[in-house]
Amino acid sequence: MSLLTNAAVFLATVAGMEVFAWWAHKYVMHGWGWGWHKSHHEPRTGLFEKNDLYAVVFAGVAIILIALGTAGWHPLEWVGAGMTAYGMLYFLAHDGLVHRRWPLRYVPRQGYLKRLYQAHLMHHAVHGREGCVSFGFLYAPSVATLRRQLRELHDGRLARSDELSTDAGKGPGAA
Ligand SMILES: [Zn+2]
Ligand SMILES: [Zn+2]
Repeated sequence: MSLLTNAAVFLATVAGMEVFAWWAHKYVMHGWGWGWHKSHHEPRTGLFEKNDLYAVVFAGVAIILIALGTAGWHPLEWVGAGMTAYGMLYFLAHDGLVHRRWPLRYVPRQGYLKRLYQAHLMHHAVHGREGCVSFGFLYAPSVATLRRQLRELHDGRLARSDELSTDAGKGPGAA
């Protein structure tokens, strides 16, 4: 397998994982998988939350794929590597930047990171399983789009912008 093919498989996996993660977050984690994900929409009590088990499952799949690939089933090792890279980006953006689960106090003031940050806070603006918006982790719609979606979902009840504050000081903290 050429270097170019491997790189293409790797990059396609990273991009594909965002689509898959969006789908899984919307339909599995906020669906029949809510039992694990619920902990992420509640204040965290310790270092970990039950929702972290999803990351463990994904890491397990990536390890199996890398093992199969290196045993000869090419290019599965590059699919596994793409999944691992996605997991690291998820950890940086979601756990680090938004939820501050490690000592990072950076609040993005502009550009893509700000949009990503605000979009995920808006995912947490609705409490509970139903009526949430913004299920992606690396791709984020604009705040205006998400506000409109929230208004449509909640019949105007969540329309006031101050209820959906994306101000850093009112971040979801441990949630
Ligand atoms: Zn969620
Ligand atoms: Zn979150």
